[in-house]
Amino acid sequence: MDSRRDFLQKVIAPFIVLPFLSSKEKSCNQSDSDGRVLRVAIMGLGGYGTMVAEAMKDCKRAKLVGVISGTPSKIKYWQSKYNIPEKNCYNYENYDNIKNNPDIDAVYVITPNALHKEGVMRVAKAGKHAICEKPMSVNAKDGEEMIEACKQANVKLLVGYRMHFEPKTLEIIRMRKDGELGKIKFFQGLCGFTIGDPNQWRLNKKLSGGGSLMDIGIYAINGSRYMTGEEPAWVTAQETKTDTVKFKDGVDETIQFQFGFPSGAVASCLSTYNMDNLDRFFLDAENGYAELWPSTGYGPIKGRTNKGELTQPHKTHQTVQMDEMAAIIFEGKKPVVPVDGEEALKDLKIIDAIYLAVKTGQKVDLKL
Ligand code: NAD
Repeated sequence: MDSRRDFLQKVIAPFIVLPFLSSKEKSCNQSDSDGRVLRVAIMGLGGYGTMVAEAMKDCKRAKLVGVISGTPSKIKYWQSKYNIPEKNCYNYENYDNIKNNPDIDAVYVITPNALHKEGVMRVAKAGKHAICEKPMSVNAKDGEEMIEACKQANVKLLVGYRMHFEPKTLEIIRMRKDGELGKIKFFQGLCGFTIGDPNQWRLNKKLSGGGSLMDIGIYAINGSRYMTGEEPAWVTAQETKTDTVKFKDGVDETIQFQFGFPSGAVASCLSTYNMDNLDRFFLDAENGYAELWPSTGYGPIKGRTNKGELTQPHKTHQTVQMDEMAAIIFEGKKPVVPVDGEEALKDLKIIDAIYLAVKTGQKVDLKL
């Protein structure tokens, strides 16, 4: 009997189990870490969309399975490069049909800023989780509508704040939370680069919603918040424009802004499309300091504190982000720094206030 049982177990059992779990199903629904895999379609197959797609190749819990694009030739190229089936390809006219596609869990919206709102609203209506690039939208009012739409549809809304998962950044946050730095006194965030092609969407207010502040200054805004651990209570801001042809009305070239926090800490930040070598965070505190330089580029991020150099290893930001987002969506995991719509809405409220402070020359109070 024993030998017969052995025979059945060794020879027949694999054939009984295998039909229920084909290798395709295994790769789509299960991962090495045994969590459910987030099956993602990317909307907007541009520079950053490509970077996310490449990074997702190394994800354990997220997989690129679909695309949404207005350019048929790009769709064909992505299909062959990432092995994407025809049934998971959509254009901007027909992507509402994604609601009938059980093989896509989430759509990552990586289009120009002013198009994020429509993308997220339609994705939510189709019953899919929405991941959206920063800035979540081009003003707080639109952001509120996006949050509400996702709530109504009972889907998650997450925003691509990749720095919230970056190991050296997280170590400084840990030190601050554990009291190793003492009382926080000052933050400086310098973010900018020299922008090229004057015809790109980033310099077209209709598509960008603004200028450097929307695109790169948002890192200093968001960084002010996660580095100090506080929400700003007021903001002052000043704009400088040296090129009114390239940076038209409503498209800021350089803005300096200052925050005051409830604890008495202050921040001083610079956002620009007209200077290089600016990717630096500095946090000064009662018992020490922390510096990240570069602070928000694609990495490796470098950092040091009064205790010495930070040595946490670099991991591709978007790979970590997408794996973490799978856990947030499926298991409700709480990240150290939130990446949800409410978090992004705070940045949008601050952006609105900075533009108002520039326009009026007044200090603007914030209630976040
Ligand atoms: P990009 O110009 O390289 O790509 C934009 C894509 O959107 C293109 O494929 C374009 O064809 C498509 N698109 C759809 N409708 C369009 C329209 N009406 N006009 C122009 N393009 C249209 O830009 P990008 O650098 O990939 O930026 C896309 C988004 O990603 C932006 O919101 C940006 O802020 C964000 N981003 C985030 C990071 C990050 O590190 N988190 C980095 C870069 C960009």
